[in-house]
Amino acid sequence: MAKASLADCRITAVTAYVVGMRWRNCVFAHVETDDGITGVGEGSLEYQPQAVAAAIDQLAARYAIGRSAFAIEKLWWDILRNEFARGPIINSAAAAIEIALWDIVGKALGRPVHQLLGGRVHDRLPAYANAWYGAGAAPQEIGEAARAAAAKGYRGLKFDPFEAAGRDPEPAALRRAFDVVAAVRDAVGPDVDLMIDAHGRFSPGSAIAIARELEPHRLFWLEEPVDPENAAMLAAVGRSIPMRLATGERCASRHLAAGLLETHEVDVLQPDIIHVGGILEAKKIAAMADAAYTPVSFHNPFGPVATAAAVQLDACTTNFIMQESFCEYDVAHRFDLVEHAPRPVGGHYDIPERPGLGVGEFLPEAARAHPFEPDAFLPLFTDRWSARF
Ligand SMILES: [Mg+2]
Repeated sequence: MAKASLADCRITAVTAYVVGMRWRNCVFAHVETDDGITGVGEGSLEYQPQAVAAAIDQLAARYAIGRSAFAIEKLWWDILRNEFARGPIINSAAAAIEIALWDIVGKALGRPVHQLLGGRVHDRLPAYANAWYGAGAAPQEIGEAARAAAAKGYRGLKFDPFEAAGRDPEPAALRRAFDVVAAVRDAVGPDVDLMIDAHGRFSPGSAIAIARELEPHRLFWLEEPVDPENAAMLAAVGRSIPMRLATGERCASRHLAAGLLETHEVDVLQPDIIHVGGILEAKKIAAMADAAYTPVSFHNPFGPVATAAAVQLDACTTNFIMQESFCEYDVAHRFDLVEHAPRPVGGHYDIPERPGLGVGEFLPEAARAHPFEPDAFLPLFTDRWSARF
């Protein structure tokens, strides 16, 4: 058989890796091609890593092997319309392959992915920190942690002060949460954006009452005050709260994003590049948000490849606002899995000019050194879950 031309980059192998990363397992797809160029993608999904890894194997055999890495849109379309039971598992597996193909295409052309998607529109990317608040439980301790995080230069800090709270928390639990928020605002001063993620805990009535109680602390956004599946109820809450409403990380496609945007109550859309199916789908969703003058802030709690994909997209997205970052509050081995893992500098991400995702090569030995962890999980309705950070 004649050797395929460089431009074909036909896929010869897709290998899924599950990597234990303390409070979650991350999933990577290493894609090899017949001309020797390899790429890496990420398909991490909250607490179902093995299901995604199995789906990557299935999708690779069914759709990817033998295809050109340049046929990204067609591969994605074939997967998403034929896989009848699409949703978080299938979409995350498809994203793992899709992201790796962008890495391969960029490497084949010698260009970073953002140059293939329109080129950069930002020079540096402001980030906000998450997972900085695991060290203590007392408001004072969390305030100190906030001061230290803000001193790194982040534009904002995000946190969930509600511990085990459910739909309608008791007053004492709420008082503690309000004390934490007050301590954080007091520690960082007026010029750091504060965002609260409620992880969908509350009933609409409690969500509205709690949001009004938080008003003096000038939050930049309140995220998922109620669960996001019922867009009409989420919107009802959005209409009645004094700060921006953020949501989108549990939204698995452009079609579901449309439902959120049609409420006209989403002030910041947070697509997860993996859960929506990859870089190109996330780019399309960002444009849909922009049609509503709405900024995007890509959800990014997973590994280094997901962060690299976010940085590439942020760089070429006009309505990008700020990038969620766990990098400085994560396991050290996130920086071992690829040659060049993104890392914020002074609270910002620089935009790499290396080809593809800019991560260089995936390092399978490092992935194998940190296998699946059965207990890697973040039980959001228990006391002190944030201690797992
Ligand atoms: Mg969230």
